[in-house]
Amino acid sequence: MDQTIREQTIRTASGLVAAGLLPPGRESEAAAVATRYAIAVTPIVAGMIDAADPADPIARQYIPDGAELTTAAWEIDDPTADAPFTPIKGVVHRYPDRALLKPLLACPVYCRFCFRREVVGPGGGLLSDAELEAALDWFAATPAVTEAILTGGDPLMLSPRRLARIMQRLSAIPHIQVIRLHSRVPVSDPDRVTEAQVAALETEKALFLCVHANHAREFSAPAAAALRRLNRSGVVLLGQSVLLRGVNDTSEALEALFRAMLRHRVKPYYLHQLDAAPGTARFAVPPEEGLRLVANLRGRVTGLAWPTYVVESPGGGGKRLVTAQVQAA
Ligand code: SF4
Repeated sequence: MDQTIREQTIRTASGLVAAGLLPPGRESEAAAVATRYAIAVTPIVAGMIDAADPADPIARQYIPDGAELTTAAWEIDDPTADAPFTPIKGVVHRYPDRALLKPLLACPVYCRFCFRREVVGPGGGLLSDAELEAALDWFAATPAVTEAILTGGDPLMLSPRRLARIMQRLSAIPHIQVIRLHSRVPVSDPDRVTEAQVAALETEKALFLCVHANHAREFSAPAAAALRRLNRSGVVLLGQSVLLRGVNDTSEALEALFRAMLRHRVKPYYLHQLDAAPGTARFAVPPEEGLRLVANLRGRVTGLAWPTYVVESPGGGGKRLVTAQVQAA
C-alpha cells in the first residue's frame, strides 16, 4: 500500500487501489462507476477502513461498487423531489415554514447511497455570488419561512468568508428564527472545522447543526475535537443517520452509533429510511425490519438516544414516521 496517497482525498479508482482500499481486480468496475458518480475518501475516512474486512461498514459507505450502475425499477433520480419545489436556484421550499438553501453541491466524501447522487460532485453546484444573493433575497421576501436549512452538498465545505456572508444575511432577516446546517464534515473531514469556520457560524438566531453519521467508528478523536469546538461555541448538535444494510442494520450497531453520538453531545434526531436513489438497492433495509431494530432500543438505551425513524414520501410529500402503515404500504 502507498501510504502517501492516504494523505490527501482519494478521488479515483486507481487511487483506492494504490491506498490498499480496493482489490486491484475491482479497479475497472470502480472506474466505470466513477464515470457516473463521484468518489471521495478523505484521509481520516481511509484510516477508519479495515481493508482486510470485506464487510467493513465504513468501506461500504464510500468504496464504489459495480452494483451502482444497475437501477432498480423503483429507483428515481430525484427521490426527494427537490426540483418541483425549487422557486429559485439553490432554494427548495417544500414545507410552509422552512426552506433549504443549497449554496454548493460538493461534499467532503461521496456516499454510495446518497439521495442527491445525481447532482452532487466536486465540480458542481457552487452558486455564483449573484445567485447566492438572489437566493438570500428570496428568504428575505418570504416571511412564512422562519427556518433556513443549509444543505447541499455540504455547507461546511464553503470558505469561512462565504459561510459568514450567508449566516450574516440570514441572521439579519427578522422572520428567520432558526438556522440549521446539515453536514458530514465533522466526522468525515473534521480538520475543516477550524476556529475560523466556527466563528463564521456566529449568530444570535437559534442554530442547529445536524451531523450525518451512520456508524460508531465514525466518531474518531479528530471528529470528537471538531464536535467539541462546535459545542463550545453554542451550536446545538443533532444526529442524522440512514438505516443501511451492512452498515448499521443490527440493534447492536444502532445502539453503538447512538451512544457514540450522545457521548459527543450529539442528540440523535432522525434515522432515515433509505431513499430510492439509483443504484442503491444493496443498502435497503425493509421498514418492518427497521421498526423491529428501533423497537429493540427501547428499554436498552436512554430515551435521549432514540431518533425519530422517518421515510421520505414519494413525489416530495415530505417526511413521515415509519409506522406499521408504511410497512403495509
Ligand atoms: S455527504 Fe450527504 S449530500 Fe454528500 S454524498 Fe454523502 S449523503 Fe450525499
